[in-house]
Amino acid sequence: MPAVIGRFAPSPTGPLHFGSVVAALASYLEVRSRSGRWLVRIDDLDPPREETGASALILETLEALGLQWDGDVVFQSARSDAYDAALDTLARTGLMFPCACTRRQTGTGPYPGTCRSGVRAGASARALRIRVDDQAITINDAVQGPFAQTLASECGDFIVRRSDGYYAYHLAVVVDDAAQGVNEIVRGVDLLDSTP
Ligand code: GLU
Repeated sequence: MPAVIGRFAPSPTGPLHFGSVVAALASYLEVRSRSGRWLVRIDDLDPPREETGASALILETLEALGLQWDGDVVFQSARSDAYDAALDTLARTGLMFPCACTRRQTGTGPYPGTCRSGVRAGASARALRIRVDDQAITINDAVQGPFAQTLASECGDFIVRRSDGYYAYHLAVVVDDAAQGVNEIVRGVDLLDSTP
């Protein structure tokens, strides 16, 4: 059996709230009960939403609760090279395309595919999206059970780099979990439909 590697990956938008502590504790117990490694990563990729001092406060809180992590804390803000390399790889697959749509143009439903075959003349694109297909992706969650999503109809082509230039959560979290060898994830149920 491969070693279990789990992680807690809070976004430093404020002090840990109760739901985050539940996720941290559940992840910690799951991993430690299987003699695994438990990592902490600070998902500080979205400066406009972050609060000064929140990262330090979160780490202090984890320590005060006795949730001691293994190795060094990884900060996503220091991982641009890895995200750029992933974007280069995605560009080579032909699955990535630039998008010039505003939020008002895309609406709230699945992305309508407006820029799939090119950005309209005169528009400038800064966001990057991934072209998804209509194959269902199923995950088997230990608590929620099987969960399937067909990205084309339920999500649409998703963003990997935002129009404000920041890397998207959906890119960074996958790049980092893969780089860190994470194979056991406990997270809030609000992220269930981001998982496929
Ligand atoms: N940083 C994300 C959050 O605080 C969670 C990361 C994850 O579990 O994928 O919502």
